[in-house]
Amino acid sequence: MHPDLERVVRLQRIEDAAERARRTIADEPARQEALAAALDAARQALETQRALLAENQTARRDAEKELAVQQARLSKYRDQLMEVKTNREYQALQKEIEVAQQEIRKQEDALLERMIEFDEVRERVRAAEEAFERDRAAFDAGREALAAEVAGAGEAIGTLAAERAAVAAELSPPVLALFERVLRHRRTSAVAPLRDGRCAACQVRIRPQTVQEIRRNDSVVQCESCQRILYLEAPAAEGAAADAGASGAASARLQE
Ligand SMILES: [Zn+2]
Repeated sequence: MHPDLERVVRLQRIEDAAERARRTIADEPARQEALAAALDAARQALETQRALLAENQTARRDAEKELAVQQARLSKYRDQLMEVKTNREYQALQKEIEVAQQEIRKQEDALLERMIEFDEVRERVRAAEEAFERDRAAFDAGREALAAEVAGAGEAIGTLAAERAAVAAELSPPVLALFERVLRHRRTSAVAPLRDGRCAACQVRIRPQTVQEIRRNDSVVQCESCQRILYLEAPAAEGAAADAGASGAASARLQE
C-alpha cells in the first residue's frame, strides 16, 4: 500500500475515534439527566405508595373515632332506656339505638376493610422500597460507568491528538492538505473504501480504470463525486476469503 494512503486511512481512524470521544463528552449531560429521571420516577412510585399507606391509616383512625362515638351513644341510650316512663319515650329510644347500631356496624365494616387494605398497601410499599433500592443502585452504577466513560474519552482525546500529530507529520504535505480539505468539507470522513466497484461513502460507481488504479494501491485517488480518498479494504474486512470468486467476477465485469 502506498505509505500516504495507509497513513490517511490511519488518520481517518484517529478522527473517527476522536469524534466518538467528543460525542461521549457532549452526550454526558443528557445521559446524566436520563439517569436522574429514571431515579425520580422510582422515587415518585415509592412516594405514591407511602401516601396511600398514610391515607389508609388516617381513614382507619377516623373509623375508630366514629366507632367510639357511636358506641358511647349506644351505651347512653341503653342507660336512658332503664329510666323511661312512657311507651312513646321507649320507642323513640329504641329507634335511636337501632340507628346507633347500624352506624356501629357500618364503622366496623369500614375498619375491617381498612385493616385488610393496610396489609396490601404495606406490601406494596415494601415492594416499592425494594424497587427503589435497586433503581438507586442502578443509578449509582450508571453514574459511575458514565463518569469512567467520560474520563476515558477525555484521556483519549489527548492521546488521539498526539497520534494524529505523529501521523500527520509523516504524511506528505499535499496529501495532508487534501485530507484536511475533504474532511472539512465532508465533516465526518475524508476517506472511503472501494466496495463492489463503488465508493462506499457516496455509492457512486467508480470508473474501471480508476478501480484498477485503486486496486494497485500505489497512489492517492479521489472519488470523482464526493472527493474522498479511496482505498482498498484489507481482505479480512472485505470478507474476501468467501467472496473471492464473486469479487473476481465483479472486477472482470468492470474490466469489460
Ligand atoms: Zn464518493
